Amino acid sequence: MTLETIEIIRQKSRKKTLDFHIVEKGFVQVLAPWGVHDKEILQLLQEKKWNLTDSTEVIVKCLPKLEEGAQFLYLGRHFEIHFSRDAKRVTIANGYINIPKSASNYQSGREKLIAWYKKQAKKWIPQRVKELSAIHHFHYGKVRISSAVRRWGSCSTTNNLSFTWRLIQAPPSVIDSVICHELVHTIIKNHARAFKRKLDQIDPDYSRSQKWLKRHALELLSW
Ligand SMILES: [Zn+2]
Repeated sequence: MTLETIEIIRQKSRKKTLDFHIVEKGFVQVLAPWGVHDKEILQLLQEKKWNLTDSTEVIVKCLPKLEEGAQFLYLGRHFEIHFSRDAKRVTIANGYINIPKSASNYQSGREKLIAWYKKQAKKWIPQRVKELSAIHHFHYGKVRISSAVRRWGSCSTTNNLSFTWRLIQAPPSVIDSVICHELVHTIIKNHARAFKRKLDQIDPDYSRSQKWLKRHALELLSW
């Protein structure tokens, strides 16, 4: 495969191993620890027989570490982390996610932020499931918000739906797409042609949303 784009995403908490994630043909993301040099990574890619050319674009990104000024996604928009002396709990306003200063060590800040994301997901996602199922005439059991890191959503044999809280970082249209996908599973349990046809009918933006999720998967799932 000839690579057009390589995105090296650095993660401070990562110890040694590299993870390779093919986003689409010609586009690969590499999750790398802080200490490994870009050159080493590119060499490894070539050893995998993935060819780099002069026009291959190499983008280097860092997964946000929870610290003052770090950017985190909420409903597809970036917000800046601010540890505030006045904040009693996590709040969001004017482009900032405010976290109480008392939680400024990594572990407690992370716990507070995740609890806040989960709370927003519990407000947003079940409500959209309700609205979208009413519009498109689907019937489902319960909606659960999970902490899954391998899948965005799922539908059980009894049509209970589950969505990861991590989805609340994505734009509303992308969340809707994941919900539509699982709602179609309430009537079709596989991904065969009939499933795709139904999904196309109710969500014409589906492939655009899928692209967004693939591109941002590491950013949403890896912290
Ligand atoms: Zn599916």
